[in-house]
Amino acid sequence: MTANLLDLDLEGLAAFCETLGEKRFRATQLFRWIHQKGATDFDQMTDLAKSLREKLRGRAQLAALPILTQNESRDGTIKWLFDVGHGDAVEAVFIPEDDRGTLCISSQAGCAVGCRFCSTGHQGFSRNLDTGEIVAQLWFAEHFLRKHLHRDERIISNVVMMGMGEPLQNYSALVPALKVMLDDHGYGLSRRRVTVSTSGVVPMMDRLGLDCPVALAVSLHAPNDSLRDNLVPLNKKYPLAELLDACNRYLEYAPRDFITFEYCMLDGVNDQPEHAQQLVQLLRRHGGRGLRAPGRPKAADRSPEGEGSMLRCKLNLIPFNPFPASGLVRSPQHRVQAFAKILIDAGIVTTVRKTRGDDIDAACGQLAGDVRDRTRVGDRIAQQRTVMLKLVPADARAAKEI
Ligand code: SF4
Repeated sequence: MTANLLDLDLEGLAAFCETLGEKRFRATQLFRWIHQKGATDFDQMTDLAKSLREKLRGRAQLAALPILTQNESRDGTIKWLFDVGHGDAVEAVFIPEDDRGTLCISSQAGCAVGCRFCSTGHQGFSRNLDTGEIVAQLWFAEHFLRKHLHRDERIISNVVMMGMGEPLQNYSALVPALKVMLDDHGYGLSRRRVTVSTSGVVPMMDRLGLDCPVALAVSLHAPNDSLRDNLVPLNKKYPLAELLDACNRYLEYAPRDFITFEYCMLDGVNDQPEHAQQLVQLLRRHGGRGLRAPGRPKAADRSPEGEGSMLRCKLNLIPFNPFPASGLVRSPQHRVQAFAKILIDAGIVTTVRKTRGDDIDAACGQLAGDVRDRTRVGDRIAQQRTVMLKLVPADARAAKEI
């Protein structure tokens, strides 16, 4: 059986090299060729002995994910739909900004959590991706973009695990993938710039803090248990008090001194002033030292319990992207602003997420719409392969297997 080298972090690759009778340091050379230089063929790895390249040809491969579609938005956002076999597909989205390039990637085909406002959740769960399938999204995107943009230096500076799936329900594949991203011989990303987003799998949050602490985003979406039970069903297992306690524990290991809370704004559901006030109280009840909004005077931050009792967090308010099966509607702009003001006045750093890639359905919550509809995946393969062939460089297509 051939090993997929994208499945291995540096430690795993060193162990693999030993099985070939090679010194462990060869793994570092190999790892750099794969991840830093984007080599797709062992013959490109010219500083490896010919005998090693021969062995690799017989025992290893770099299993790129076939691309079903690639769409580029007017704002520069690019979305790829990757075929992961058996009628399943996952998406990754590149979001360029002036000071960073962010790649949003998937960890599962579908998702078992079933959040009401999420189109992936409505499709149900198909399977966990393996490490190589998670890493392959970054591997392809980074090296495709370098060619596409004619740049030699790193393009992707941030990775967010906010595509399809609940990453912490695929923990054993997630952690080695994170290690590849962080490794200086791999992508060399800062822990602060790799974000795992979770709907609140409390025991795994604790493990992540110990095993591989990266930035953490928590899908909150409601200020009380009864509403959150309805929007994020996992709340019935890990209610808010347990979740926020886990956030405080995570902060002891986190590379940033705050947790990001995602809050999808749903018209008439969770966007009323009383919801914002409940949220402030919730974060005060469960907090340590507060994180003040920039420029706000200290006195204005004082909670009834005294200054500094807010959980260290940032609130990210997300305009909902409607999809037919949800029966939900986006909150009007004025209500989002009013909600944000209550949080900011309470001293909570609050931002309203810009929607990106709307014209290609790449905005938050729209990822993977319809991809589990196997008929449509088949249609897309047939109808859009021609388009893809024009857009994707020939060597990236050829990189499926070497
Ligand atoms: S929001 Fe995340 S956890 Fe919830 S259903 Fe969607 S992918 Fe799953």
